[in-house]
Amino acid sequence: MAAVSLDVPQIMNYIGGIWQAVKESRGVINPATGETIVQVPLSGTDSVEEAVKAAKKAQQDWRLVPAPQRAEVLYRVGFLMKERKERLSQLLTMENGKVIEEARGEVQEGIDMAYYMAGEGRRLFGQTTPAELKDKFAMSNRVPVGVVGLITPWNFPIAIATWKSFPAILAGNAVVWKPATETPIMAYELAKIFEEAGLPSGVLNVVFGSGSAVGEAMVQHKEIRVISFTGSNDTGRSIAEKCGKQLKKVSLEMGGKNAVIVMDDADLQLAVEGILWSAFGTSGQRCTACSRVIVHEKVKQDLEERLLAAMDKLTIGNGLDESVKVGPIINQTGIDKIKEYIEIGKDEGAILLTGGQQVIDDDHKDGFYFAPTLFTDVTANMRIAQEEIFGPVVSIIPVKSFDEAVEMNNGVEYGLSSSIFTNDVNQVFRAQRDLDTGIVYVNAGTTGAEIHLPFGGTKGTGNGHRDSGVQALDVFTEWKAIYVDYSGKLQRAQIDVES
Ligand code: NDP
Repeated sequence: MAAVSLDVPQIMNYIGGIWQAVKESRGVINPATGETIVQVPLSGTDSVEEAVKAAKKAQQDWRLVPAPQRAEVLYRVGFLMKERKERLSQLLTMENGKVIEEARGEVQEGIDMAYYMAGEGRRLFGQTTPAELKDKFAMSNRVPVGVVGLITPWNFPIAIATWKSFPAILAGNAVVWKPATETPIMAYELAKIFEEAGLPSGVLNVVFGSGSAVGEAMVQHKEIRVISFTGSNDTGRSIAEKCGKQLKKVSLEMGGKNAVIVMDDADLQLAVEGILWSAFGTSGQRCTACSRVIVHEKVKQDLEERLLAAMDKLTIGNGLDESVKVGPIINQTGIDKIKEYIEIGKDEGAILLTGGQQVIDDDHKDGFYFAPTLFTDVTANMRIAQEEIFGPVVSIIPVKSFDEAVEMNNGVEYGLSSSIFTNDVNQVFRAQRDLDTGIVYVNAGTTGAEIHLPFGGTKGTGNGHRDSGVQALDVFTEWKAIYVDYSGKLQRAQIDVES
């Protein structure tokens, strides 16, 4: 592992270009060790008020900076992230727990997003289109919304922040961002990078604090015209209701109940690798994590045996150790929720093949570890087959046919990601058409999105918006239609058209 400085600075709000301390704070715990690594400020609504004021003022000038110049800042952000990749990755592992290889991947995702979105500075395409009248010109373009609010979760504390803040800033908005209380270090580091990259004061404002104080104040603030949220369904739903009352635009990216389908012609060893990576990566705490394996009954036993053998080799521990494959769960609340689902699964009659308990031996007792868990003979209506567990728990559901597999995949309230392992080209094309999720993988697990494609889901996963890809710009821009009449006379659309 490369030697990098891991000194954790005192975390402060960043408002109007000024680093501000807050009286109240709370300890942030490294989930791998149980140690307090830093204090996170617990701001009040006054900080939100101040941040919105600073953002509003800064946006007046920022919107007039040509987009290619706004993009220059993002290029510099990307360079700085690249330069600091190892330090950021190790700090990310310390605050979030995910294993270092995945942390490096997450930071890389942010770097990719910086370069990709910076490229949009020279595109931001609108349309030019014929007008229906002579000597008249028509076009549409994107304009910034103004001040936007970002509320982000702990499971991807830097990647999700870049998915949201980069398009927002590139498009000419100013941002008020509330990061998750569990993972403030990445937010602090990213704000520092923006500052060093030369982002004008007030264009990005970071306010640390609880969802109920800071998040709620942002949702209710009249001057924040967009809320972009990633997190749990309960919180997302309540934010959407409040935004709805104010006619405020809201983009939600929430849970998943993602499945890997394994057909009887699949390469089973490849399927095992795909399941392992997408189910137990980030200890299952990904919105795209595989939590169901829908398997053709002809290969069920073979797949189970291979999975059990592979799971047996997974090492659980502190993610800073390069040999560890499964890191901790974010906190005790997360562990308790997983334990509850293990009991629910057993009560419902599912068969527990392995795992099912917290790991509390001498090497793990100070952190929050949960053993990779496999249930089998799970049926469609069981709660463990329907609800998001957010832990390293997989349910095997046997089916008799391709059609039944698709029906099973689609029979949940979520619609984020799905995957199929098969070598049958006809099944591949039917699957990509019929699986009703926002993301579909063929011969790969349910995780691994690339930043230049739209990220998000159907049904209960979201509300129709997408993070990342060019589509992310839709959240942070309004369309403006512009008509220029150069005929020198009043021409009335639909009326003065020569027939
Ligand atoms: P939340 O949805 O509560 O948190 C996500 C973000 O929303 C955090 O920044 C949080 O702040 C903030 N928030 C919380 N309450 C409000 C509110 N009333 N108004 C505005 N913002 C608010 O998720 P949790 O972190 O509590 O995790 C609970 C469960 O949610 C997980 O076990 C998992 O099942 C699911 N989850 C799913 C994610 C996904 O990617 N699909 C991501 C994270 C969680 P704060 O951190 O201060 O509470």
